[in-house]
Amino acid sequence: MTDLAELLQAADRIVAFTGAGISTESGIPDFRSPGGVWTRYDPREFTFDRYVESADVRRKSWAMREELFAHRPAPNAAHRALARLEEAGRLSAVVTQNIDGLHQDAGSRTVIEIHGTMREVECIGLRPAYGTPDGCGFRQGTEWVFARLAAGEDDPRCPECGGIIKSATISFGQMMPAQAMDDAVQQAQDADLLLTIGSSLQVYPAADIPLIAKDAGARLAIVNREPTPLDGFADVVVHGSAGEILGAAVVS
Ligand SMILES: [Zn+2]
Repeated sequence: MTDLAELLQAADRIVAFTGAGISTESGIPDFRSPGGVWTRYDPREFTFDRYVESADVRRKSWAMREELFAHRPAPNAAHRALARLEEAGRLSAVVTQNIDGLHQDAGSRTVIEIHGTMREVECIGLRPAYGTPDGCGFRQGTEWVFARLAAGEDDPRCPECGGIIKSATISFGQMMPAQAMDDAVQQAQDADLLLTIGSSLQVYPAADIPLIAKDAGARLAIVNREPTPLDGFADVVVHGSAGEILGAAVVS
C-alpha cells in the first residue's frame, strides 16, 4: 500500500473533505457524545419546520448557540496542514461538513461549507416552506443576534423585512445548498487526490463526494479514527489522530 506522504507529494490538485473528527482535536465535542449539546437539547426539536413554527424553538436554538460560542476553539495541526498545502499551490479546496469556521481561522481560503456556517445568521423570510430559506438576503455575523438578545429581544427579526433570523447552517429537514454542493462536486471531479479527514462518510449526499472524485480518476486517501464504509475504495487508509497524521505527512 502506498504511503500517505507519498500520495500527497505526488498530487498537485488535492481536495480535502473534512468532517467532525478534524475538529474534535480542537476541543469541539461530538454533539452526540456524553455531555455534548445533543444530550441536553433534543435534536428532533431543531428541524427547519419546527424552527419556523415555534418562537420557543428559536429561543432554545439561540441559547444553544451562545453555549457553543462560549468557548472559542482554535484550529489544530490538521487544519494548519491543509492551509499550508493550499499556500503551496497544491490544494484546490477544502470541502467541509463542519460549521465551525476553523479552516478559515487556520488560513484556508477556498472553503466550501456544505452544511453552512455557525459564524453567520441569515434572514429566511416570514414563512419559508419545503425546508427552503426564502429570505431577503440579510446576513450578519452571529454576534449580531447575541447583541440583540443582550438588548432584551428574545426572537430577533430581520431589520429589512421582518423575516425569521436563523443560523446560516443546514438544519435537519432543510434543503442542501445547491451552489455549495455543485461547487463541491466540481472540485471533486477536478481533483487528482481526494483526502478525507475525520468524516465517518455516512451522511449522504456529502459522502458521495469522495466516490465522485474516485470515479473521475483521482486517488483516494482516508484519515479517520474509525473504519469507514469507503475504506475498501481507498488507495490509502490511516486510522488515528488527524493532527498527528497530517502534521507528519505534510512537511512543506
Ligand atoms: Zn429579511
